[in-house]
Amino acid sequence: MGRLFGTNGIRGIVNEGMNIELASSLGRAVGTWLDEGTVAIGTDTRLSNDMLKTAVASGLMSQGLNVVDLGEAPTPAIQYYTREKSDLGIAITASHNPPKYNGIKVIYGDGTELTSDNEEEIENIYFSGENKDPKWNFVGRLSKDDPLEMYHEAIIKKVGKKTIKDADLKVVVDCANGVGCYSTPYLLRDLGCEVITLNAQPDGTFPGHDSEPTEENLKDLRSVVIECGADLGIAHDGDADRAIFFDEKGQFLHGDQTLTLMAKRIVKRNGGGIVVTPVSSSSSVEDAVKQEGGKLIYTAVGSPIVAREMIKKNAVFGGEENGGLIFADHQYCRDAAMTAVRIVQAVAEDGPLSDQVAELPHYSLDKRGFPCPEEIKEDVMVELKDVFKESDVDDTDGLKIRYEEGWVLIRPSGTEAKYRIYSEAKHLEEAKQLGEEHASKVLKVIEKLKDHV
Ligand code: MG
Repeated sequence: MGRLFGTNGIRGIVNEGMNIELASSLGRAVGTWLDEGTVAIGTDTRLSNDMLKTAVASGLMSQGLNVVDLGEAPTPAIQYYTREKSDLGIAITASHNPPKYNGIKVIYGDGTELTSDNEEEIENIYFSGENKDPKWNFVGRLSKDDPLEMYHEAIIKKVGKKTIKDADLKVVVDCANGVGCYSTPYLLRDLGCEVITLNAQPDGTFPGHDSEPTEENLKDLRSVVIECGADLGIAHDGDADRAIFFDEKGQFLHGDQTLTLMAKRIVKRNGGGIVVTPVSSSSSVEDAVKQEGGKLIYTAVGSPIVAREMIKKNAVFGGEENGGLIFADHQYCRDAAMTAVRIVQAVAEDGPLSDQVAELPHYSLDKRGFPCPEEIKEDVMVELKDVFKESDVDDTDGLKIRYEEGWVLIRPSGTEAKYRIYSEAKHLEEAKQLGEEHASKVLKVIEKLKDHV
């Protein structure tokens, strides 16, 4: 039996892997699995959204579920609405992937993403085709609602409106033609900021730039921040669950830096507390959390895993190095608008972003990747565990080897036939050296096992 769900829901190219047959069959499977209730369904700005949304909705209604169409909205707004007003949620989105892709993500009634156990249950129904198919008079109905007002109110309630207004900040927001268009610019204006927008018309062809907020894709944002003398620049990915920042000098902040800054502020304010992050995050997060008297817990990579651990351990904050931050006092999922507002709040309260970032613990990262055939990926990991059995090793996800000067993380890629090596140390030369040393060991193992295939 094939797998339907990947690390981030179901993704594929429209009218190839991601077609209306899949969408309606999945809708039926989810409907049979949930049995009864209401499902909220919303989308990002992709051209194929209406097609896929109506197919999923038809499948759901065929199994007796009522569907609420939320239209286009940030994924975290769909999650918030689901938690407040629905039994299950579905987001039609492929996040940062190119425009020809789309995806389907299922959300629990508490707003968190589905666990792999439940994904497997849905997959079993999907592949067996054993649906409930109720009698004609028990099929579901369709209604509409707008999730944005409630979502914005929830965010504004959490931050001090007055401090932000008094700081008189100028903010540039690059919405990447995604669903961030509906949210962050309006929120920041409501909070009293002067807002300049880029790529703020929703457009599923992503005419501005690719919807992944990399430094390369955000050159215009950087220029506008500098030209306009803005206090900061904010960018979102296509479905607005991640936020990336530039400081007032036009310097790009890596996701790790935002994560560290927020972790530090929240733990400090809380007088301690637990922060959760994947093993791939910079040690700067751990250093900052410890400095403020908090505790850091590492998990495997993936935001749903971080969110679940946060709930389990009653953590105050969590997040990933890609700009996906999770605030326990708001909701247990990545939330870009909340991240934007909280960074703006940090600037309003404590001054220029560049100064705040300069005070954080700093590390350098070396990243490399090697081709590795899918069929030997697992054996490579087994062999590597043996190679490094004498070292200080953490195998929460891949193999993280800790050294005096830093750490090295060796992981098979979840999406490509590749192995990746991340090496972090205080100085770039040290990080590069760690990277080089481990690369040769990993390559040796791949070469050896390749010969046995
Ligand atoms: Mg996203």
